[in-house]
Amino acid sequence: MSVTIGALRESAPRETRVSLVPEVTDKLIREGARVLIERGAGERAGYPDALYKGASWSDDAHGVLQGADVLLTVQPLTLDQIAQLRSSATVVGFMQPYARTAEVRALKERGVTSFAMELVPRISRAQSMDALSSQASIAGYKAVLIAANQLQKFLPMLTTAAGTIRPAQLLVIGAGVAGLQAIATARRLGAVVEAYDVRSATREQVRSLGAKFVDTGVSAEGTGGYARELTAEEKARQQEVLDARIAAADAVVTTAAVPGRPAPRLISRAVIERMRPGSVVVDLAAEQGGNCELTRAGEIVEHQYVKIVGPVNLAAELAYNASEMYARNLFNFLKPALVKGELVIDWNDEVFAQSCLTSGGVVRHEPTAKALEAAQ
Ligand code: NAD
Repeated sequence: MSVTIGALRESAPRETRVSLVPEVTDKLIREGARVLIERGAGERAGYPDALYKGASWSDDAHGVLQGADVLLTVQPLTLDQIAQLRSSATVVGFMQPYARTAEVRALKERGVTSFAMELVPRISRAQSMDALSSQASIAGYKAVLIAANQLQKFLPMLTTAAGTIRPAQLLVIGAGVAGLQAIATARRLGAVVEAYDVRSATREQVRSLGAKFVDTGVSAEGTGGYARELTAEEKARQQEVLDARIAAADAVVTTAAVPGRPAPRLISRAVIERMRPGSVVVDLAAEQGGNCELTRAGEIVEHQYVKIVGPVNLAAELAYNASEMYARNLFNFLKPALVKGELVIDWNDEVFAQSCLTSGGVVRHEPTAKALEAAQ
C-alpha cells in the first residue's frame, strides 16, 4: 500500500495559500505516493482542480483528514480538525508551536506525529526546505510595494520636463531574509536605501545589495560570533543614531524579530512625530506586537500625517508563488522519507529529529514541552 498524502482547502480567515501545487503533486505521484486533495484547495491561489493531474479528490475536509497518512498544511490545524485525524497520521506544516499550545497538546494526545516547518534547522542542507525563508522573502517584497503604494512620492529619481524629482529614501530595519528582499526590491524600484541590523554579519550583505549600512558606532560583537549585551549607554547611543535615520526616511520597512519572543520595540511615537508628513512605516513585525509603538496588526494607523501599516500574513497576498515555494519546501522535506512509495522516517536525520513537534504521545520539542507545562 502506498502512502496517501493529503492537502486541505485552508480554513483560516484570509488564508489563500495551498500546501500542494500541481507540479509537486506530480512529483509525489512519481515517488509512488497517492495524493488526496479537498476540492477547491488551490483555487484561491490560482490553481484550479483541473490542473492537478492524477490526484484523488474529497468533497470535504473530513475525507482528507480521515484518509491521509501524511497531511500537508499551511496554517496550524484547528482542534476540531485534529480530532478527525487518524492517530497513525503524520502532519507537516506551520504549527506556531509557541502560540498554539492547545493545538500542540491535542496533537500530542491524539498520538499523531507532527513536524513544524518553523523548527527545520537552518543548516545548508536544509535550505531548500526552509519555509520561513521562502515566505519571509515574499513578505519583504510585498512590504516595499505597500510602502510604494502608500507614499505620495516616486521611489526612483526622475528627470522630467517638469524638472528633477528626487528619489525616495527608504530605511530597512532588520536585515534577515525579509529585510534583504525588501532592500533588493526597493533598489530595483530606484529608491535610495539604508539598512540596519544588530548582527554585524549583515553589513556586507546589505552593501552587496547596493544599500548603505547604518553605522551606530556601537559594536555588539562578543566572543565566538555571538552578540554581547550592550550597556544602557551604548543602547541609548544606538537608538539615537537609528532615530535620526528613521526621521530622515520617506519610508521605513521594519522586520526585526527574535524567534519565540515579542518583537523588539524600535520606533517610538516621538520618532514618528519627527518624520515628514506623508511618510510611511510598514511594520512586518505587526503580528508579533510590532517594531513600532503605534502599529496595530491588520490596520493602517495615521498619526500626525504619518501612516503606520501593520500587515498580517503578507505571503497569502502573493498566493501563487507563495504556495509554489512552500509546496517545494514540503516536498524537499518529505522526499528523503519517501521510500518506494512508503513513509520511512530516519530519526537519526537531524532535520526530522529537530523539526518533530509531537510523536508517540510526547512533545519532542523541548521549549514547547516546557511552555506546555508552564501553561498547565
Ligand atoms: P528573523 O525574521 O528572526 O529576524 C529578522 C532580523 O531582525 C534578523 O536579521 C535579526 O538579526 C534582526 N533583529 C533582531 N532584533 C533586532 C534589533 N533590535 N534591531 C535590529 N535588527 C534586529 O530573521 P530571519 O530572516 O529568519 O533570519 C534569522 C537568521 O537565520 C539569520 O542569521 C539568517 O542569516 C539565518 N538564516 C540561515 C539560513 C540557512 O543557513 N539555511 C536560512 C535563512 C536564514
